[in-house]
Amino acid sequence: MTKITVLLAVFAGFSFPAVNAQAAPAWPDNNKIAVSLSYDDALASQLDNAVPALNEYNFKASFYIVPNSASVQSRMADWQALASDGHELGNHSLFHPCSAAKPSREWVSEEQNLDNYTAERAIREVLTANVFLQALDGKTQRTFTPPCFDTQAAGNDFIEPLKAHFVAIKGLEQTEQSLLWAPSAVTGQQLINYVKNAPEETQLINLLFHGIGGDHLSVSVAAHAQLLAYLAANKDRYYVDSYINIMKKQAKE
Ligand SMILES: [Zn+2]
Repeated sequence: MTKITVLLAVFAGFSFPAVNAQAAPAWPDNNKIAVSLSYDDALASQLDNAVPALNEYNFKASFYIVPNSASVQSRMADWQALASDGHELGNHSLFHPCSAAKPSREWVSEEQNLDNYTAERAIREVLTANVFLQALDGKTQRTFTPPCFDTQAAGNDFIEPLKAHFVAIKGLEQTEQSLLWAPSAVTGQQLINYVKNAPEETQLINLLFHGIGGDHLSVSVAAHAQLLAYLAANKDRYYVDSYINIMKKQAKE
Protein backbone atom coordinates (compact mmCIF):
# COMPACT_ATOMS: atom_id res chain seq x y z
CA MET A 1 0.00 0.00 0.00
CA THR A 2 1.40 3.40 -0.89
CA LYS A 3 1.87 6.16 1.61
CA ILE A 4 -0.80 8.30 0.02
CA THR A 5 -3.33 5.50 0.22
CA VAL A 6 -2.60 5.06 3.90
CA LEU A 7 -2.96 8.76 4.60
CA LEU A 8 -6.14 9.15 2.64
CA ALA A 9 -7.54 6.07 4.29
CA VAL A 10 -6.70 7.43 7.73
CA PHE A 11 -8.42 10.63 6.82
CA ALA A 12 -11.45 8.73 5.61
CA GLY A 13 -11.67 7.22 9.04
CA PHE A 14 -10.60 3.63 8.47
CA SER A 15 -8.16 2.14 10.88
CA PHE A 16 -4.87 0.80 9.63
CA PRO A 17 -1.75 -0.59 11.21
CA ALA A 18 1.16 1.78 11.76
CA VAL A 19 2.41 3.58 8.67
CA ASN A 20 5.27 1.81 6.92
CA ALA A 21 8.49 3.35 8.22
CA GLN A 22 10.18 2.73 4.85
CA ALA A 23 7.81 5.04 3.00
CA ALA A 24 9.32 8.31 1.82
CA PRO A 25 9.14 11.23 1.88
CA ALA A 26 7.98 11.46 5.48
CA TRP A 27 4.84 13.44 6.10
CA PRO A 28 4.32 16.27 6.73
CA ASP A 29 7.84 17.65 6.82
CA ASN A 30 10.88 15.71 7.99
CA ASN A 31 8.77 13.61 10.34
CA LYS A 32 7.38 16.64 12.10
CA ILE A 33 4.04 16.27 13.83
CA ALA A 34 1.40 18.53 12.31
CA VAL A 35 -0.44 20.61 14.91
CA SER A 36 -3.81 22.10 14.07
CA LEU A 37 -4.93 24.80 16.49
CA SER A 38 -8.59 25.57 16.03
CA TYR A 39 -11.04 27.89 17.69
CA ASP A 40 -14.74 27.07 17.54
CA ASP A 41 -17.94 29.11 17.66
CA ALA A 42 -16.62 32.59 16.60
CA LEU A 43 -16.10 34.05 20.07
CA ALA A 44 -14.94 37.57 20.90
CA SER A 45 -12.24 36.29 23.28
CA GLN A 46 -10.62 34.54 20.32
CA LEU A 47 -10.26 37.84 18.47
CA ASP A 48 -9.07 39.62 21.60
CA ASN A 49 -6.72 36.99 23.01
CA ALA A 50 -6.02 34.08 20.66
CA VAL A 51 -5.27 36.05 17.51
CA PRO A 52 -2.56 38.34 18.99
CA ALA A 53 -0.89 35.28 20.55
CA LEU A 54 -0.93 33.38 17.24
CA ASN A 55 0.36 36.37 15.33
CA GLU A 56 3.29 36.72 17.71
CA TYR A 57 4.68 33.47 16.27
CA ASN A 58 3.11 33.79 12.83
CA PHE A 59 1.12 30.61 13.49
CA LYS A 60 -1.89 30.08 11.21
CA ALA A 61 -5.01 28.52 12.72
CA SER A 62 -8.57 27.56 11.80
CA PHE A 63 -11.53 29.45 13.22
CA TYR A 64 -14.78 27.52 12.93
CA ILE A 65 -17.37 30.21 12.45
CA VAL A 66 -21.04 30.17 13.39
CA PRO A 67 -22.54 33.02 11.35
CA ASN A 68 -25.21 33.83 13.92
CA SER A 69 -22.62 34.34 16.68
CA ALA A 70 -22.92 37.81 18.26
CA SER A 71 -19.28 38.64 17.55
CA VAL A 72 -19.64 37.92 13.83
CA GLN A 73 -22.33 40.56 13.64
CA SER A 74 -20.54 43.13 15.81
CA ARG A 75 -16.97 42.56 14.58
CA MET A 76 -17.27 41.36 11.01
CA ALA A 77 -14.22 43.32 9.83
CA ASP A 78 -12.07 41.61 12.46
CA TRP A 79 -13.12 38.16 11.24
CA GLN A 80 -12.45 39.20 7.67
CA ALA A 81 -8.99 40.43 8.66
CA LEU A 82 -8.20 36.99 10.05
CA ALA A 83 -8.78 35.44 6.66
CA SER A 84 -6.62 38.08 4.93
CA ASP A 85 -3.87 37.27 7.43
CA GLY A 86 -3.87 33.62 6.30
CA HIS A 87 -6.02 32.03 8.99
CA GLU A 88 -8.83 29.74 7.88
CA LEU A 89 -12.47 30.60 8.42
CA GLY A 90 -13.90 27.10 8.73
CA ASN A 91 -17.53 26.01 8.53
CA HIS A 92 -19.25 25.13 11.81
CA SER A 93 -22.80 25.16 10.41
CA LEU A 94 -25.28 28.02 10.32
CA PHE A 95 -26.96 27.69 13.74
CA HIS A 96 -24.80 25.15 15.59
CA PRO A 97 -27.44 22.42 15.96
CA CYS A 98 -26.64 19.55 18.35
CA SER A 99 -28.55 16.55 19.59
CA ALA A 100 -30.31 17.39 22.87
CA ALA A 101 -30.70 13.71 23.67
CA LYS A 102 -27.01 13.24 24.54
CA PRO A 103 -25.65 13.73 28.07
CA SER A 104 -24.91 17.29 29.26
CA ARG A 105 -26.89 18.85 26.44
CA GLU A 106 -29.34 20.79 28.59
CA TRP A 107 -28.16 23.95 26.83
CA VAL A 108 -29.50 22.83 23.44
CA SER A 109 -32.70 24.73 22.64
CA GLU A 110 -35.69 23.14 20.91
CA GLU A 111 -34.92 25.13 17.81
CA GLN A 112 -31.25 24.08 17.79
CA ASN A 113 -32.05 20.46 18.49
CA LEU A 114 -30.57 18.26 15.77
CA ASP A 115 -33.01 15.53 16.77
CA ASN A 116 -35.74 17.69 15.23
CA TYR A 117 -33.81 18.13 11.97
CA THR A 118 -33.92 16.12 8.78
CA ALA A 119 -30.56 15.26 7.22
CA GLU A 120 -31.53 17.45 4.26
CA ARG A 121 -32.03 20.45 6.52
CA ALA A 122 -28.70 19.89 8.30
CA ILE A 123 -26.92 19.67 4.94
CA ARG A 124 -28.67 22.72 3.53
CA GLU A 125 -27.72 24.83 6.54
CA VAL A 126 -24.06 23.80 6.36
CA LEU A 127 -23.94 24.64 2.66
CA THR A 128 -25.62 27.99 3.31
CA ALA A 129 -22.92 28.72 5.89
CA ASN A 130 -20.39 28.09 3.11
CA VAL A 131 -22.01 30.83 1.02
CA PHE A 132 -21.88 33.20 3.98
CA LEU A 133 -18.20 32.40 4.59
CA GLN A 134 -17.40 32.90 0.92
CA ALA A 135 -18.97 36.35 1.17
CA LEU A 136 -16.67 37.04 4.13
CA ASP A 137 -13.36 35.76 2.77
CA GLY A 138 -13.87 35.21 -0.97
CA LYS A 139 -12.76 31.60 -0.70
CA THR A 140 -14.46 28.55 -2.17
CA GLN A 141 -12.47 25.93 -0.26
CA ARG A 142 -12.49 25.28 3.47
CA THR A 143 -12.87 22.59 6.12
CA PHE A 144 -15.85 21.77 8.30
CA THR A 145 -16.16 20.64 11.87
CA PRO A 146 -19.60 19.36 12.91
CA PRO A 147 -21.05 21.07 16.00
CA CYS A 148 -20.70 18.76 19.02
CA PHE A 149 -19.22 16.20 16.57
CA ASP A 150 -22.79 15.05 15.97
CA THR A 151 -23.18 13.28 12.65
CA GLN A 152 -26.85 12.31 12.58
CA ALA A 153 -30.06 14.29 12.29
CA ALA A 154 -32.81 12.25 13.92
CA GLY A 155 -30.89 9.06 13.19
CA ASN A 156 -29.88 9.92 9.62
CA ASP A 157 -26.27 10.57 8.66
CA PHE A 158 -25.70 13.98 7.10
CA ILE A 159 -21.90 13.96 6.97
CA GLU A 160 -21.33 11.65 4.02
CA PRO A 161 -23.05 13.90 1.45
CA LEU A 162 -21.11 16.90 2.81
CA LYS A 163 -17.67 15.37 2.23
CA ALA A 164 -17.61 16.43 -1.42
CA HIS A 165 -18.01 20.08 -0.38
CA PHE A 166 -14.99 20.30 1.90
CA VAL A 167 -11.25 19.81 1.74
CA ALA A 168 -11.66 17.84 4.97
CA ILE A 169 -14.02 17.33 7.89
CA LYS A 170 -12.35 17.70 11.25
CA GLY A 171 -12.81 15.68 14.34
CA LEU A 172 -14.84 12.64 13.43
CA GLU A 173 -12.24 9.96 13.90
CA GLN A 174 -9.36 9.50 16.25
CA THR A 175 -6.84 7.14 14.77
CA GLU A 176 -3.45 6.04 15.98
CA GLN A 177 -1.95 8.75 13.79
CA SER A 178 -4.35 11.53 14.64
CA LEU A 179 -5.19 12.91 18.09
CA LEU A 180 -7.94 15.30 19.06
CA TRP A 181 -8.57 17.16 22.29
CA ALA A 182 -10.92 20.01 23.19
CA PRO A 183 -9.27 21.33 26.37
CA SER A 184 -10.93 23.68 28.86
CA ALA A 185 -9.82 24.91 32.28
CA VAL A 186 -6.35 23.41 31.87
CA THR A 187 -2.87 24.69 32.66
CA GLY A 188 -0.23 25.51 30.09
CA GLN A 189 1.78 22.57 31.33
CA GLN A 190 -1.14 20.21 30.72
CA LEU A 191 -1.40 21.47 27.15
CA ILE A 192 2.33 21.07 26.62
CA ASN A 193 2.29 17.57 28.13
CA TYR A 194 -0.47 16.49 25.78
CA VAL A 195 1.62 17.52 22.79
CA LYS A 196 4.86 16.24 24.25
CA ASN A 197 3.45 12.85 25.25
CA ALA A 198 1.76 12.09 21.93
CA PRO A 199 2.40 8.44 20.96
CA GLU A 200 5.30 7.87 18.62
CA GLU A 201 3.10 7.12 15.60
CA THR A 202 1.27 10.46 15.89
CA GLN A 203 1.24 12.53 12.69
CA LEU A 204 -1.42 15.07 13.57
CA ILE A 205 -2.52 16.70 16.82
CA ASN A 206 -5.81 18.58 16.80
CA LEU A 207 -6.36 21.03 19.63
CA LEU A 208 -9.85 22.48 19.59
CA PHE A 209 -10.24 25.57 21.69
CA HIS A 210 -13.32 27.61 22.50
CA GLY A 211 -12.92 30.74 24.64
CA ILE A 212 -9.42 32.04 25.38
CA GLY A 213 -9.46 34.05 28.59
CA GLY A 214 -13.26 34.42 28.39
CA ASP A 215 -16.45 33.01 26.89
CA HIS A 216 -17.30 29.31 27.27
CA LEU A 217 -15.11 26.19 27.77
CA SER A 218 -12.33 28.64 28.30
CA VAL A 219 -8.56 28.21 28.50
CA SER A 220 -6.63 31.04 30.16
CA VAL A 221 -4.58 33.50 28.13
CA ALA A 222 -1.48 32.39 30.04
CA ALA A 223 -2.01 28.65 29.43
CA HIS A 224 -2.66 29.25 25.74
CA ALA A 225 0.44 31.46 25.48
CA GLN A 226 2.56 28.79 27.17
CA LEU A 227 1.50 26.19 24.61
CA LEU A 228 2.27 28.50 21.69
CA ALA A 229 5.67 29.38 23.13
CA TYR A 230 6.44 25.67 23.47
CA LEU A 231 5.42 24.95 19.87
CA ALA A 232 7.48 27.90 18.64
CA ALA A 233 10.51 26.73 20.61
CA ASN A 234 10.20 23.26 19.08
CA LYS A 235 9.66 24.03 15.41
CA ASP A 236 11.99 21.21 14.49
CA ARG A 237 9.39 18.77 15.88
CA TYR A 238 6.07 20.49 15.16
CA TYR A 239 4.53 21.97 12.06
CA VAL A 240 1.71 24.36 13.01
CA ASP A 241 -0.75 25.43 10.33
CA SER A 242 -4.43 25.88 9.52
CA TYR A 243 -6.36 22.65 9.13
CA ILE A 244 -6.98 23.28 5.44
CA ASN A 245 -3.25 23.76 4.79
CA ILE A 246 -2.34 20.64 6.75
CA MET A 247 -4.93 18.55 4.89
CA LYS A 248 -3.86 19.88 1.49
CA LYS A 249 -0.24 19.17 2.27
CA GLN A 250 -1.16 15.68 3.41
CA ALA A 251 -3.12 14.99 0.23
CA LYS A 252 -0.18 16.05 -1.92
CA GLU A 253 2.30 13.64 -0.37
ZN1 LIG B 1 -19.09 24.44 18.45
